[in-house]
Amino acid sequence: MVEQLDKQYVLHTYARNYVNFKKGINATLFDEKDKDYIDFTSGIGVVSVGHGNKEVADAIYKQVSNITHISNLYAIEPQAKLAEKIAQLSEMDVATFFSNSGAEANEGAIKIARKYGETKFNKKRYKVITLEHSFHGRTITTVKATGQSSMHSPNFSPYPDGFKYDARIDDIYNSIDDETVAVMIELVQGEGGVQPFEKKDIQELAKFLKEAGILLIIDEVQTGAYRTGEFLASNLYEIEPDVITMAKGLGGGVPIGAVITKHKDIFQPGDHGSTFGGNYLSCAAANKVLELLDSYKNSGELDEIIIYFDKKLNEIQNKFPEILTQKVGIGLMKGFRIKDNETLTALISKCFEEGVLVLKAGRNTLRLLPPLTISKKEIEEGFKRLENALTKIK
Ligand SMILES: *Cc1c(COP(=O)(O)O)cnc(C)c1O
Repeated sequence: MVEQLDKQYVLHTYARNYVNFKKGINATLFDEKDKDYIDFTSGIGVVSVGHGNKEVADAIYKQVSNITHISNLYAIEPQAKLAEKIAQLSEMDVATFFSNSGAEANEGAIKIARKYGETKFNKKRYKVITLEHSFHGRTITTVKATGQSSMHSPNFSPYPDGFKYDARIDDIYNSIDDETVAVMIELVQGEGGVQPFEKKDIQELAKFLKEAGILLIIDEVQTGAYRTGEFLASNLYEIEPDVITMAKGLGGGVPIGAVITKHKDIFQPGDHGSTFGGNYLSCAAANKVLELLDSYKNSGELDEIIIYFDKKLNEIQNKFPEILTQKVGIGLMKGFRIKDNETLTALISKCFEEGVLVLKAGRNTLRLLPPLTISKKEIEEGFKRLENALTKIK
């Protein structure tokens, strides 16, 4: 039924699995035949606090049964409180603009860079350097910011000018010219293959850019909201970027994006805006998500579950070293390089059959992004099923 409707009425932009999920409890999903699946994807890093989170649901219900939306023409108390909480948790002197998605947050960051380049230098600067294998979104501008030529299809050209891609962090130094205004990178490339950069290299780059007056934009759409074990990957890397973007895990499933910057006066009224961004609904959700994750982190439970998950990764890698060639990632953003692309494709569909949901990243990486609140029991069951899948494809 859902398959027929989907195929007839929904535009075909995804290669979909035809399963119909009817119920979710933390990291476990149930389909219409009541088959259960351990969710090591959390909706691609979105459902940070698990499926069916009662406290988030209650906070949303309480808010939307009163006011759902007013517009940004009026001050919005949950939005102001969320911005305050982001500043506190980031431990940076920052202000935030709210959008509805990651791509939109990155658009906002690029607009900040463009205005900075127009207004802060004698000669206009507008070029933004990004990295190969990066992913920054699906709008025309963020697709162009993404350093994967396969994403720059002529079908959607012309694209905005001013993006340059470097293969490595080290190459950025030579790419900078008198038109460069910003460098935009992920600290752990997610879609590109769960690839973290070296802390030392990032700190050196941050220092260099600061001295050169060039903005550092960190795309934390995937790494933000405790995915790496800290509120921001920037906290983990101990840097203070000029602009940070967030989205995926921030609203626990409610669409929200954030552009966080220490350049609090760069935008004037009229420079940027959003109809839905930062409304009562999304901010009520995000406030509760951050409250829950902050106390989850402070209690030591998040660190404990990261260690437990990592132990399981090591165990399974020891059993299948010829398939799982390398463990990658940080926190609960983890994965394995897989022997080859065909094996990975076979593994992902076998995992689905065995009842564990996993993701692909890059060309040959198995990516695991469980809800941060996943239980030890769910982890154990998920790895048991992953092991079954590996045994069957061997
Ligand atoms: C997912 C992702 C985006 C795009 O976010 P959308 O909400 O899909 O627009 C941008 N950057 C990174 C690093 C991402 O992982």
